[in-house]
Amino acid sequence: MRYVVKLGTRLLTDESGELNKKNIQRIASEIGELIDSGHEFIIVSSGAIGAGCGRLGRRPSEMSTREKQAAASVGQTDLINAYRGFFEKQGRTVGQILVTSQELNARRSYLNIRNTINTLVEMGIIPVINENDTVAVEEIRYGDNDRIAGIVAAKVDADSLIILTNVDGLIGNGGKLVKEIDRVTPEIEELADSEISEFSSGGMKSKIETARMVSNVCGIDTYFASGLKYGNIKKICAGGNPGTVFSGRRKVISHKKRWIAGLNCSGKIEIDSGAVRALAERNSSLLTVGIKSVKGEFREGDAVKCTDSAGRTVAVGLSNYSSSDLKKIAGIRSSKIKGILGYGDYEEAIHKDNLVILSKTKKEC
Ligand code: GLU
Repeated sequence: MRYVVKLGTRLLTDESGELNKKNIQRIASEIGELIDSGHEFIIVSSGAIGAGCGRLGRRPSEMSTREKQAAASVGQTDLINAYRGFFEKQGRTVGQILVTSQELNARRSYLNIRNTINTLVEMGIIPVINENDTVAVEEIRYGDNDRIAGIVAAKVDADSLIILTNVDGLIGNGGKLVKEIDRVTPEIEELADSEISEFSSGGMKSKIETARMVSNVCGIDTYFASGLKYGNIKKICAGGNPGTVFSGRRKVISHKKRWIAGLNCSGKIEIDSGAVRALAERNSSLLTVGIKSVKGEFREGDAVKCTDSAGRTVAVGLSNYSSSDLKKIAGIRSSKIKGILGYGDYEEAIHKDNLVILSKTKKEC
């Protein structure tokens, strides 16, 4: 089986930002034992900024973005050296991959990265992936590796995504661990505490969003578990669940749609309730008549979010029209597009082949 394991900054660095080598060693030895028993692993690791700050004796809260990027370039070398050192002791090699959202958004480089990851795994090398913080300026930053781990899991056909953190899983109302989630509902989204530490950036919110994309859309089981306890990864690989599982229900979705689901969206299209139902229940294309408003700036072919009137993201898709043209034809019938724009290459705002539904209506569930 193939697993993508995401390790957060809080697991990998201590309060002062020093690398927590004990944790890294323990996790590396557990992964090594599982590779010995035939499993494949891809690691997505945070910790570069934290480790860089530790080495430079600075705190991220007092640093500018440029200084944090510089810290990441220092910390990334420590981070990869730690992985290399521990895996080398087991006779294994690691390969470093640093990515930005621009590369994951462009279909060609996305496919190249996928090929490299697959080749490394075939060669018995453990890929260690992080966001390329030194080149990812604010507008193109993911800012959290949860999303990158989700995109990677979808892209390399992982059997499961394992997000290791310093808590046991998703904690529900009343402080009880939520064991299994079949579908990410607004109630589940509300459980996300927005508390984010100084060194890490994702928090529970980005983990839940990632779990939704990976399990609901791509059909891949996603686990949240504590990375502080030896044996949790083994339990998952043996079919157990030491934390929270978002079950993937083994859904089959094309690779193109997996790529679309992970894209950074440049704009938002609010759609009416009829369009929400058409998308969610009938897998229809999005027609201009169902569009209430268009926000943000995007070009033809860019990824946009489709939201309902409550602001919930219903779908992600590639727009056939730029934001300025779409504003002119929002709410009107397809037959009138040509008359308004002077051209009308597409009947629909987003074709169903380029549309990924994220949340189904109640009826559909
Ligand atoms: N890429 C960042 C780092 O290595 C981590 C972002 C995150 O917290 O997920 O420090």
